[in-house]
Amino acid sequence: MHPADNVAIVANDGGLPAGTRLPGGQVLVDKVPQAHKVALEDIPEGGAVRRYNVVIGYALKFIAAGSWVHERLLQMPDARALDGLPIATAKPTPMEPLAGYTFEGYRNADGSVGTRNILAITQTVQCVAGVTDFAVQRIKAELLPKYPNVDDVVALEHGYGCGVAIDAPDAAVPIRTLRNISLNPNFGGEVMVVSLGCEKLQPERLMPPGAIALVDQRTLQEAPLDVVCLQDEAHVGFMSMVDSILRQADEHLKRLNARRRETVPASELVVGVQCGGSDAFSGVTANPAVGFCTDLLVRAGATVMFSEVTEVRDGIDQLTARAATPEVAQALIDQMVWYDAYLARGRVDRSANTTPGNKKGGLSNIVEKAMGSIVKSGSAPIAGVVAPGEKAVQKGLIYAATPASDFICGTLQLAAGMNLHVFTTGRGTPYGLAQVPVIKVATRSDLARRWHDLMDVNAGRIADGQATIEEVGWELFHLMLDVASGRKKTWAEHWKLANQLVLFNPAPVT
Ligand code: CA
Repeated sequence: MHPADNVAIVANDGGLPAGTRLPGGQVLVDKVPQAHKVALEDIPEGGAVRRYNVVIGYALKFIAAGSWVHERLLQMPDARALDGLPIATAKPTPMEPLAGYTFEGYRNADGSVGTRNILAITQTVQCVAGVTDFAVQRIKAELLPKYPNVDDVVALEHGYGCGVAIDAPDAAVPIRTLRNISLNPNFGGEVMVVSLGCEKLQPERLMPPGAIALVDQRTLQEAPLDVVCLQDEAHVGFMSMVDSILRQADEHLKRLNARRRETVPASELVVGVQCGGSDAFSGVTANPAVGFCTDLLVRAGATVMFSEVTEVRDGIDQLTARAATPEVAQALIDQMVWYDAYLARGRVDRSANTTPGNKKGGLSNIVEKAMGSIVKSGSAPIAGVVAPGEKAVQKGLIYAATPASDFICGTLQLAAGMNLHVFTTGRGTPYGLAQVPVIKVATRSDLARRWHDLMDVNAGRIADGQATIEEVGWELFHLMLDVASGRKKTWAEHWKLANQLVLFNPAPVT
């Protein structure tokens, strides 16, 4: 990955047997599995092991050239202290604007643009999930066929709303997350809420009047919040509740159905990028291609969010250096400080991130994983920072602070206003969301071959020598415009694979 590295990874399918002579003349001492590291030179006990020109660990004993370098041979470095960081020191040459790219999207009254036309039904509390789901099945069967311009009806089910310390400071995170998801561009401003009645998260608390601009599209007046309350005395029997939900849904569906796609500039894209089920190829193939595409999107004036605090923590010095202003750098540090304390409360640190699959895929520790993860962000200056559950309002490259957990990160990126999601994976995950299209990028050709009807892009061709990072980046860029326009569906959409929303609740439950 860098001329100063003293390890490299085996790209070959199936790994390489002991005795294999490498192009540099080293002979493999051990059988080395695919994606795993091999020492390019003798490394003394205590010596630094470098990949991406970063120290990913110190040798616990002498490692001979040609040996398999796995996690049991490495001592992980401590996390970088959060003081004395380089602040907005990188002065990248300004990137040439990329003009002329468009997609077909749904313009919203608030200025945002949707890539899908979906009726979302917000729930204040988990208690109403069963009833709402029952109603959604009937809406799909009985109402949706009348409205061919509406793509789907989605219940925003979650585990929050009651039995929680709702006045704890950190409760602001799940509450604003749910509020902002309800206002995601793909829902056309048609907010509809199902409430139980006695729950802690009352509809007015979730959607404070005046705090959100719910506009009646016909009168252009502020619209009252549409709430179906199951404990309302007017409801006699279960079917009465279901009928209320259907009656209200029908009003929203009529308005959503009247909307049409129109040509909008690529700058209206709000793309969330993340990875999951990563391996040592993630930082070699898929994530660099996504990073190249991130630069294209930023040049086109779009918004791109990267996230996953524990997967950038070890590269925080790179990020603060790339911050557009000292204020952005400080906001990045503030998010790291908060998350360090959050992890410390649970008596762990960022090293709790890695999974058995990551390690099987050659990633020795979180330092190595983070260096591969961070390259999704490309090379643009970081223009802003969004706290968990907040909405991104700026264009350009944004750091949206979220846990690395795939479903929590996706949920928080939805709240931040994402209208398109890009997800890279090396081990393989069928991840999808019902609320936005998810384009999945495989890091390895072996995965792309076996999961040919789940992976949308094969970045493994980069390791195979069949495509360059730039070529795969451009392919992804064009695919994004096609998917955003509804001209193409992702595999997750084709199979209707959707993970649940998982709200990030750092506050206590009661
Ligand atoms: Ca993730």
